[in-house]
This record gives sequence, structure tokens and C-alpha cells, in this order.
Amino acid sequence: MTQQRMLSGIKPTGDMHIGNYFGALKQWVDMQDDYDTFIFIPDYHALISVQDKEKMERLIMDVAINLLAIGLDPEKVTLYKQSDVPCHTEACWIFNCLTTMPQLMRGHAFKDNEAKNKDVSVGLFDYPVLQAADIVLYDAQLVPVGEDQRQHIEMTREIVRKFNNTFGDTFIEPQAVIKEEVGTIIGSDGQKMSKSYGNTLPVFASETETEKYIKSVPMDSKDISEVKNPDEYPLYSIAKLFCNEAQDTELRAMFEQGGVGYGDIKKHVTSLINDYLRPMRARRTELENDLDLVKNILKKGAEKASNIANAKMKEVREKVGFEIK
Ligand code: ADP
Repeated sequence: MTQQRMLSGIKPTGDMHIGNYFGALKQWVDMQDDYDTFIFIPDYHALISVQDKEKMERLIMDVAINLLAIGLDPEKVTLYKQSDVPCHTEACWIFNCLTTMPQLMRGHAFKDNEAKNKDVSVGLFDYPVLQAADIVLYDAQLVPVGEDQRQHIEMTREIVRKFNNTFGDTFIEPQAVIKEEVGTIIGSDGQKMSKSYGNTLPVFASETETEKYIKSVPMDSKDISEVKNPDEYPLYSIAKLFCNEAQDTELRAMFEQGGVGYGDIKKHVTSLINDYLRPMRARRTELENDLDLVKNILKKGAEKASNIANAKMKEVREKVGFEIK
């Protein structure tokens, strides 16, 4: 039986954090054995906020290294950067002509920025349309993402329906795959973990930085002897991500039975996190010393992705009437 295709990506815009990892990236690693997996680095999208040549180059390599370090296997996964397949932007233009301003004005990235009176570039406004192109050029059936992406995938489905109704069946409507219990990972302050809220714990932070982050998580003034409900603490919701069943039972007991101070609980949580992330961090250091290997993986990925996307684009060009025979 042929495998279903899954596709997803993460922007090269800064440190990959545990919200990204547990919300989306871990699912990619878990799914790579059973699905035809395409993971791309959306550098065209990143250009909305990263407008510095050296920084862009560094962030692209950084995210590629990170993706390999968390366990994506280049033998199983097609890993590439978006700008190596320029027909994403061609498909985006065609979809732009089928998409209305009011549709895009519902986009939450646009609305958030508008509400904060920020300058909204055409790129930011159009982000969901380029994202639709990213997905549908590969006939991806499944898109594993965090909850914040649900709306964008719904917009992709609308664009597919519009195109198929206008020009005939061409694209598949993709499904978002969102794991309920990790759809929105929260940060130290109890809000969604996000680069824009400054509350992230980077996966590749050092052990000391991890300790500092955990120390900074606010607790309350309850007495050490009091019984506490772990589910009320951001510290617990972060820590449980790193726990197997036995570790979770042990951690809950520290809250529920009383008698353990917050300082000791935090020390315990810091070791849980550092133990979990240590192998990935070590792998990252190895990869940093083998940049040619990483570049080669991206090159091979781009070749495979281009073959698929270009064939699809040819079909699209024919359907809209651009290929005169
Ligand atoms: P992009 O904008 O390319 O999606 P992000 O860095 O915003 O890049 O996110 C990458 C992935 O991580 C997305 O699938 C997103 O839904 C997921 N994600 C980001 N923050 C969180 C969070 N706090 N909880 C769960 N998933 C998250």
C-alpha cells in the first residue's frame, strides 16, 4: 500500500522552543516511519520578518541542523528549503487571483498585527495563500501542526475548493493533524509559548539556561506542607511533557503530598528536562561540525521536492490556460 503523504514546516526565525517541539515537531519524528514525510524550511515566509542576508543564512542552517538533531532521518524524510522550489511563489500568485481580501482579513496573524497598529506588509497579509501553495503542490494529505495553525489549514482547504471548482479537480484538501493534549503548549507565564511573548524555553538552550528558565517560573506563596493541585501550575504543565508515566506519578506526588519545597521541585524538573534533551543537544553539536552534510541533505531534498512540485505546477499551468499547444 502506498503511504499517505504528510507535510509541515517551521520558519527559520529564531530559537526552536519546546512549544514547537511538543506541539508539532515531535509528531513529525514519530510519523516519519509510517508516512511519506516532507518537511520544509519556509524561508520565503521568514523574509516577512528577517531582512538581513547573514541572519537569514544563519537561521536557515540553524533550523536545518535542529530538525536533524531532534531525530528527523534524511533517509526517510524529504527535507528542503522553500526558496529552492520557486514554483511555490508561482502557485501563490495563481491562488491570489482566486482569494478575496475579506477572506485574508480573517487571518489571525493579520488581525493580531492590525490590532497592535503594526505595519502589515503585503507578505504578512498574503501568508496563508503562500502556505496553501506550500502544501497542495505536493498533494499532502496530512499536515501535523499546533493549534495556532488550524485556521491556516482551513484557508488552504477553501483555496483548494475554489481552484477545483473553477478549473477542475487538481488539488487534494489537506487535513490538519493537531494533537489535542499538546495543541497549545504554555510558557513560564501561563500564556501560549511563543517567540513574540518572550516566554520560550529553547530546545537547544544550555543546561544552565534551562535551570534559569525553570527558576523563573512563578509559583505561589502556599506553605511547604500544604497539599497542592499540580494542574494549577505552569511548572507542572511544562514538566509533564518530559515525563514518562512513572516520572509523572512521582512529580504529581511532590505537589499532592506536600512537604517538598518549590526549590526542590524545580531542581527535580530541571534534571528531568536536561536528561530528556541531552542526546538531541549532543547531536546538534556534532552536526554543527559537519555543515557540508547538512547542505547536501537540503540539496537532495530540494531535487526531490522540485520534481514533484514542478510536475504539479505544469498541470496547473495547463488547467488555467497558460500552456498553448
Ligand atoms: P510557523 O510560523 O512556520 O508555523 P512557528 O515557529 O510559529 O513556525 O511554529 C512551528 C510549529 O510549531 C507550528 O506547527 C506551530 O503550530 C507549532 N507551535 C508553535 N508554538 C506552539 C505552542 N506554544 N504550542 C503548540 N504548538 C506550537
